Amino acid sequence: MEALHVYDEPPPGVAADWTMPQEWGQFTDADHDRWHEMTVRQVRLLKGLASASFTSGVEQIGLDQGGIPEFKAFNKTFEQATGWIVVAVPGVIPNEPFFKLLAERKFPVANFLRQGSSQEYNDEPDMFHDVFGHLPMFVDPTFGEFMTAYGRAGLRAEKLGMSDWLGRLYLHTVEFGLIREGKELRAYGAGLLSSHAEAVHALTSDKACRLQFNLPRLMRTEWPFDTFQPTYFVIESFDALLEEMETTSLKHVYDKVRDLPLIPIGDTDPSDRAYTVANL
Ligand code: FE
Repeated sequence: MEALHVYDEPPPGVAADWTMPQEWGQFTDADHDRWHEMTVRQVRLLKGLASASFTSGVEQIGLDQGGIPEFKAFNKTFEQATGWIVVAVPGVIPNEPFFKLLAERKFPVANFLRQGSSQEYNDEPDMFHDVFGHLPMFVDPTFGEFMTAYGRAGLRAEKLGMSDWLGRLYLHTVEFGLIREGKELRAYGAGLLSSHAEAVHALTSDKACRLQFNLPRLMRTEWPFDTFQPTYFVIESFDALLEEMETTSLKHVYDKVRDLPLIPIGDTDPSDRAYTVANL
């Protein structure tokens, strides 16, 4: 993967907090059409795969209508529905400003759109991934609360030098997480919701390993960024996930994991507990 939109310093036109004007006028009619096409297709394909919160979120924040949202207008609806706003950023930004924005209930959205209309795998998180994959989940207030708690935890992790460990928690939940809903498994991670093929793989493939949520295990699990994940983690509910953030002393978990080896991509660990239909 060639990372084209990864920055260490704010590039020209970007503020010190890494936000920038969306400049909605830069998007062409063709961009809006492509966006609409991708949205309609993805909504149709995700039926029966996406978490119920996601499906109702798409409607509640109006993502099923029209082209690329203009953030100024969009934020009125979004803030009312979720208590969050979106801000445009140039792409992948450093940890500290990312955590700070989350702690302030501002979700950063990459201000560029993928070329073509690939939905099977996107090389780097673009505006479609950030908006369509992430934003609908915020209508679940507990999920939104988890995201602010994550931002605050991130700021503390930066000081402890543990951001990479905490970052793997984000990856295996917010990006690639699965949740039990009734007797079914559903996807709530944005990486799955913005890639139909990986959502199918995560939920149905017998090559994918689905494990019960286990915080130290998640933090130790290495992940590939250029292919489907081999290992997914299942949560019981967003309440359970938030409780992990609020009642667990992350410092205690860091002390436990920092001297343990990382678990290589796709490897198993003696602590693993498979999530199977029998658990449901
Ligand atoms: Fe993402």
